[in-house]
Order: sequence, then structure tokens, then C-alpha cells
Amino acid sequence: MQTVVPFVIAYLILVGLFLGSFINLAADRIPRGESVVRPASHCRTCGRRLNWVDLLPVAGYLIRGGRCASCRTPIGLAAPVIEATSGLLLAIPLVWLGLLWGALAGIALVALWGAAVVAYAVRRGVSA
Ligand SMILES: [Zn+2]
Repeated sequence: MQTVVPFVIAYLILVGLFLGSFINLAADRIPRGESVVRPASHCRTCGRRLNWVDLLPVAGYLIRGGRCASCRTPIGLAAPVIEATSGLLLAIPLVWLGLLWGALAGIALVALWGAAVVAYAVRRGVSA
């Protein structure tokens, strides 16, 4: 049973990273009054639809050198930082509090983080 725990923790950290990816999308679209479901993620400059490499949290940013793979428009450091923060907000309570309470606290922290990021984006208004 104990041997499974590291895998569950790794999985939950991955969930945190992908939630960070969704937070970015929501922070980009909600201030514009756009749907967070459709259309699929795409580059705002050239319209290229993002593929699975682009959508990997943090890693996608690093693989693409922080730019769109087609038009080379910079993505902005906020995206991977928001993703990494979401992963850490799940990882830290898991290590600190253990699986059950850590996962609950981590999900709550990521939810608060997401709400804060989206609220900030709405307050700041549409940019670039
Ligand atoms: Zn592009």
C-alpha cells in the first residue's frame, strides 16, 4: 500500500500542473467574455491550434522556448509560473500533511490561487 503513495502524489502534482494550465486559459478568456470550453486552445496571434506539446504545463513552454511554434510570438513568463505555482500548491501540502489532508488542502489552495489569478486578470482587463 505504502509503495503506491509516491505515484499518487506524482499524479496529484500533475493534476495541479494541468489545473494551472486551465487557470491560464480562464485568466486569458474570462476578461474577454469568452468561453473557457470552446474553441480549443490556440495562438492569439496566428490562430494555430495548440497541440499536446504546447499544452504540457511548464515543459511545453520550455520545449517551445517560450514562443508560439509557428509565429514565434512570445507566450509570456506568467503562463509557466502560474502552472508551476499550481503544481507546488498541491505538492507542498501533500508532503507536509500526507495524502488525504494534503490533497484536500492542496485542491483548496489551487482553487483559491485560480480564483485570485482570474480575479486579477479581470481587474486588469484585456491585455495584448
Ligand atoms: Zn502563433
